[in-house]
Amino acid sequence: MRVLVVEDEPTLAAQLAEALRGAAYAVDVAHNGVDGHYAGAVETYDAVVLDLGLPQMDGITVLKKWRAAGRGMPVLILTARDAWHEKVAGIDAGADDYLTKPFHMEELLARLRALIRRAGGHASAELVCGPVVLDTRNSRVSVDGRALALTSHEYRVLDYLMHHPGKLVSRSDLIEHIYAQDFDRDSNTVEVFIARLRKKLPPGTIETVRGLGYRLAAPP
Ligand code: CA
Repeated sequence: MRVLVVEDEPTLAAQLAEALRGAAYAVDVAHNGVDGHYAGAVETYDAVVLDLGLPQMDGITVLKKWRAAGRGMPVLILTARDAWHEKVAGIDAGADDYLTKPFHMEELLARLRALIRRAGGHASAELVCGPVVLDTRNSRVSVDGRALALTSHEYRVLDYLMHHPGKLVSRSDLIEHIYAQDFDRDSNTVEVFIARLRKKLPPGTIETVRGLGYRLAAPP
């Protein structure tokens, strides 16, 4: 899953990026409203953390422009303390959730997980596909109760597939959702991640749809 952080305060932006990367997200960071708006308009994100007090273009305007252009990704806004009117304006502008500064990083991570889960229509923090269980709370995967050791990119690929069970996922979908913007994207590496995952998962878990992509299917 890939997340955009739009936050002008350098220390907080760095803390957010570090925490999100630690939770296995691919993370892009923008430090002002104009860059943030552009990234959210042209790139594909599974969720956005948007500060409202931003230089060059304020967060409410950024959010309104995204929504007016049909960008529907889940957005969690960060509001200043004692600014209840910002929450109202943000929710009216299309925010899905909010946190008031200062906040606990654990709470932000939990709220983001919930937003991404709901966007995919999942009720539980644990995603299940036959004997494969992916716990989004701690980024752990198990098969028949046995823990599976995955690299962060293998995890991101499986996480994306498990958020979209039974659906055709193209290689370009995976590329858009597992890499940050500045990462050297090589579509061949997706095949490598899939091949490695297949060796670790029960046979038949990841189907290849020839010429189109992949599909997660519960093995019989
Ligand atoms: Ca700010």
